[in-house]
Amino acid sequence: MSDRIQAPRGTFDVLGDDALARDALVEAARRVLEPAGYGRIETPTFEATSLFARGVGESTDVVQKEMYTFDAGDSESLTLRPEGTAPVCRAYLEHGMHKLPQPVKLWYLSSFFRRERPQKGRYRQFWQIGLEAIGSDDPAVDAEAILLLSEILEAIGSRGLRLRISSLGTAASRTAYREELTAHLRANEDRLSQEVRERIDLNPLRAFDADHPGTREVMASAPLLLDFLADDDHEHFEAVKELLDAAGVVYEIDPTLVRGLDYYTRTVFEYTSDALGAQSGVGGGGRYDGLMEQLGGAPAPGIGWAAGVERMLLASPPPPVAPPPVDLYVAYATPELRVAAFKLAADARRAGHAARLELGGRSLKGQLKQADRAGARYVAILGDEGTSLKDMQSGEQKTVEPDTVMHHIRGGL
Ligand code: AMP
Repeated sequence: MSDRIQAPRGTFDVLGDDALARDALVEAARRVLEPAGYGRIETPTFEATSLFARGVGESTDVVQKEMYTFDAGDSESLTLRPEGTAPVCRAYLEHGMHKLPQPVKLWYLSSFFRRERPQKGRYRQFWQIGLEAIGSDDPAVDAEAILLLSEILEAIGSRGLRLRISSLGTAASRTAYREELTAHLRANEDRLSQEVRERIDLNPLRAFDADHPGTREVMASAPLLLDFLADDDHEHFEAVKELLDAAGVVYEIDPTLVRGLDYYTRTVFEYTSDALGAQSGVGGGGRYDGLMEQLGGAPAPGIGWAAGVERMLLASPPPPVAPPPVDLYVAYATPELRVAAFKLAADARRAGHAARLELGGRSLKGQLKQADRAGARYVAILGDEGTSLKDMQSGEQKTVEPDTVMHHIRGGL
């Protein structure tokens, strides 16, 4: 008993209606993203470890403790992708996409891997739908990206949504701010959690994410980055807000919004849902104007977001899922007729019909029950005395020439 192998901790199988619900979600996303000019990208499941170390940032939780890294031989270190932005940026550089009309707009549906403590809505392998728009710093790209996420969430009926936005400014505004923030943290060091204390110099902004009560008190009076934005960063943020207002996107400004990854600049945003438990993040993202250079490429501004598929499903009512229709079920009375039945089902599929064949060795009675259960529109019954075709809607049944079955299911009995 106990030596039966199970799916690894933090992973899950997708079956039955859940699989159909996922397909419906992906379809809803595709219907929003593709008309807006986003093309599909797929990158490898694993990448050079240095891509994430450089791209996501050494000081982040993801890189410090959550990556599945393995030695691929020849002293090459590979990592199962923990996120999608760095790989897409790597692909942009590798394929010289700067030569294409900018911005290059790409979307993905992929699985990601993080060694986190599993709980409801938090897995070690999870799926994200995400997009990246690279090559323009126009605030309209930011607003459009946010609008598209809001449209997907609306299309699937997500409940209890809240959109928070902020701006992290560019490196220049951040440097001045970091000094102020670090001084504030130092002045209140004894009230901070050990984790935050240890990262005062490395990543002081992350203190805003802490749950620790003392740290939260200190952060309540901390200086805010929004008050330190350089003029052009401020203008950029104002423009994004104006565009969101024009499109009717409802948002809150949250100056304490700090996303978990290091590469963000200027616009950051996050959708949460109070229909979810502790893991309330549905999707989020932001601008990353310095990332290309960090990856060794020529500078190119970019913005993107990722939304968790499992979280979106948890926050939304189950979509109406219908099993795929079956046009024809081919039943046969004796084993001698199996070849003819097999051929009829194959021919029907080639002609574009959804055709099923009895595969479970059932009795004829069992086959008819099975056809009924599958919701077949027609059943062809191959018998020693000939072929009959039954219309499962009207109950009408008649004997037909075997090679006219297709003709009949197209035109009715
Ligand atoms: P992030 O890449 O951390 O910004 O995450 C973007 C979105 O992916 C989150 O809002 C979640 O919906 C989802 N997500 C992140 N980590 C996990 C996880 N471990 N399990 C399930 N979903 C996740």
